[in-house]
Amino acid sequence: MNKKHILIADDNPESCQLLHDLLESEGYTRLQIATDGPTTLSCVAEEAPDLILLDVMMPGMSGFEVCQSLKGDPQTSSIPVILVTALTERASRLQGLDAGADDFITKPIDEAELLARTRSLLRTKQLHDDLLSAMHEKIEFVGQVSHELRTPLFAISGLTEMLLDGEVDSSERVQHYLRTIHEQSGYLAQLVDDLLDLSRFERGKYILNRVPFRVAPFLQDTITLMQQRAQARSINLRLGEISPALIIQADEGRLRQVVINLLNNALRYNDPGGWVRLTVERRGEWWIIAVADNGWGIRPEELPYIFERFYRGENARTKSEQRGAGLGLALTREIICAHGGDITAESSGISGEGSTFSVYLPLDKAS
Ligand code: ADP
Repeated sequence: MNKKHILIADDNPESCQLLHDLLESEGYTRLQIATDGPTTLSCVAEEAPDLILLDVMMPGMSGFEVCQSLKGDPQTSSIPVILVTALTERASRLQGLDAGADDFITKPIDEAELLARTRSLLRTKQLHDDLLSAMHEKIEFVGQVSHELRTPLFAISGLTEMLLDGEVDSSERVQHYLRTIHEQSGYLAQLVDDLLDLSRFERGKYILNRVPFRVAPFLQDTITLMQQRAQARSINLRLGEISPALIIQADEGRLRQVVINLLNNALRYNDPGGWVRLTVERRGEWWIIAVADNGWGIRPEELPYIFERFYRGENARTKSEQRGAGLGLALTREIICAHGGDITAESSGISGEGSTFSVYLPLDKAS
């Protein structure tokens, strides 16, 4: 089954049917018919097809004119057009090329040739669409990065200016501003590190130093690293039971980055008095490292997006005092995927019921 949308434009019902049946027998399911030039244009305006098979000899508005109109409009110029013509002379081919046609097929139609040309143009169109969406994604990404950089830079330059101008008289205020500048610089440095890391992983330009190591001391050390932060937030951070003999093969530094990211979030999106648990277990072909908390939770409709770059949930935007860029989970997922694993998030979205993030590492590579 092929879901590409093809518009057949021909004033002759028999020719239309012939093309329709031929394409249908090849598995094309989204076929549309237009029987004159103006109808063709209005069909395209309503929903742009992926390809148009356009008869040249239509009364009123010819196929050449329709083609010219489509190719002259930036909204429709990238839709490939195959001109179907009984005219074999050079002059009419040139006219078709002038009108912007992408390909020709002559009547009587050679079925194999028509299908081959259709496939080829649909492939080109797909490449064009993919490139376009990659370009849009890049433009959006640059916009997001600039936006993220602007806010802390603005704070740093504004506060520095005030300090330099001698506008701040109390030493308490000076301390406060310096602390803010320091925090914002730290945020910027983290942001740039995360962006560089993400770009390395997304381009496949990373080196994983996979070595076997014992999980119990690794997780214990990680918990110790985070304990001060947990205490500052009055959150009970605990490690579940782990067999001391358990060994995992992974990039230890990267895996620590993953666990710290998850613990950081579990502590951040939680109220004082809450708890966070770090556990590891073997299930079938996987090691599962899980971070569970009883914090604010994530609304189920947000769960599909939280691993996207720059995605910040509603709880982060409205409740959290600590600002994040929305890159942590995107990077976490890249690191886990590079290990051949996966990561999932579960939450009812009810505050107090929290969330559970489970990192799956394959046993063959990780045991
Ligand atoms: P951020 O910098 O915003 O923390 P992340 O990529 O780490 O970015 O997380 C994306 C979003 O997922 C967060 O903004 C937050 O809404 C949600 N989130 C992540 N972890 C948790 C958690 N443990 N509890 C509640 N929400 C979470």
